[in-house]
Amino acid sequence: MGKVLIIGAGGVGTVVANKVAQNSDLFTDIMLASRTKSKCDAIAEDVKRRTGITIDTARVDADKVPELVSLMNDFKPELVINVALPYQDLTIMDACLEAGVNYLDTANYEPKDEARFEYKWQWAYRDKFEKAGLTAILGCGFDPGVTSIFTAYAAKHHFDEIHYLDIVDCNAGDHGKAFATNFNPEINIREVTQKGKYWEDGQWVVTEPHEIHKPLTYPEIGPKESYVIFHEELESLVKNYPTLKRARFWMTFGQEYLTHLRVIQNIGMARIDEVEYNGQKIVPIQFLKAVLPDPGKLGENYTGQTSIGCRIRGIKDGKERTYYIYNNCSHQEAYKETGAQGVSYTTGVPATIGAMMLMQGIWKKPGVFNVEEFDPDPFMEQLNKQGLPWHELFDVDLEV
Ligand code: NDP
Repeated sequence: MGKVLIIGAGGVGTVVANKVAQNSDLFTDIMLASRTKSKCDAIAEDVKRRTGITIDTARVDADKVPELVSLMNDFKPELVINVALPYQDLTIMDACLEAGVNYLDTANYEPKDEARFEYKWQWAYRDKFEKAGLTAILGCGFDPGVTSIFTAYAAKHHFDEIHYLDIVDCNAGDHGKAFATNFNPEINIREVTQKGKYWEDGQWVVTEPHEIHKPLTYPEIGPKESYVIFHEELESLVKNYPTLKRARFWMTFGQEYLTHLRVIQNIGMARIDEVEYNGQKIVPIQFLKAVLPDPGKLGENYTGQTSIGCRIRGIKDGKERTYYIYNNCSHQEAYKETGAQGVSYTTGVPATIGAMMLMQGIWKKPGVFNVEEFDPDPFMEQLNKQGLPWHELFDVDLEV
């Protein structure tokens, strides 16, 4: 029924390639393109072995609009799933407009020379997509993505008004490495070393990095020290749910991880500006990426699970209610199914489901949208079918 072009052949691209191939009734022609074609070929070979489905591959530099347009004009996909890096969001959106292709991603644009992710750059494309009659779905991974859809589902079915939202993200996995990031190290380190930020009483409150923390209890895992950080879905959720009095995002970090992170920052390896080295210009954080473990290859020895969800307090039928909706995902199960670890899996599966929603015409309207602006129900149904089942708890102590 439909042609899909996946851009990016990292951990998340591996999962998306596997999941679209598993749903080949909807995705009849699949192409995987990235900067390094050999990585696409290796993934395609593995997907063929697992599912029997053939995926075409291509090399593309997604920083270059003409290259992207030419690839899209040749292959003529209905949709591009962008699982390259946030730096490529705008060039891929430009190319989609030029070639008349719908767009989906999992992380919002950030400029390379400034560690600041915001939706303003992509929201500025609204009119263009609307005029072109094309759909752009932003932030369709787990967080952002499923966390926003969980919030939409809660607002639709369980609350008249939501007042307090705490998104809680725990990775209780062990990959056996002294230090590794679970997705692209450059993007990850830029994200977690930023100042904390949350929404309260109509304004943003800024904190020092990792200033607010406390142990939160995660299902089947137990208590884990959790830290308030800024995360991109907060920006759209506070706009789309104006009844929110407070919205925060908590993420767990181990002491070992935080110590490494502090050292990396203190010695200047988290710098994103260019430095001279042996007559050559290098960006320290990009060099660091080259020596750190590849997140896409952590899966084999990864044990334990992730637990990500939303803890919500609000009003239903005049009474206060608390609600906790979450998914737990096993790194080992993810690896067995796709060859990638749980963080890539929890991102790649929702991206695939978002693509299914678009291909089926369920989430298809001209413009640029965050995922909570669509009907959550058909997506929630697919989460249960595609490997990320969710659970609900009512009237529990939310701890936050
Ligand atoms: P990886 O670094 O493993 O993979 C990124 C891929 O993009 C690589 O194959 C890389 O190519 C390719 N790429 C980079 N630049 C270009 C370019 N200019 N042209 C073409 N291809 C390019 O990252 P992940 O798979 O871990 O993450 C992918 C995306 O998913 C990121 O944007 C990340 O922020 C997002 N993410 C979202 C989450 C969510 O829940 N919403 C959670 C985790 C990740 P090469 O191999 O040559 O370097």
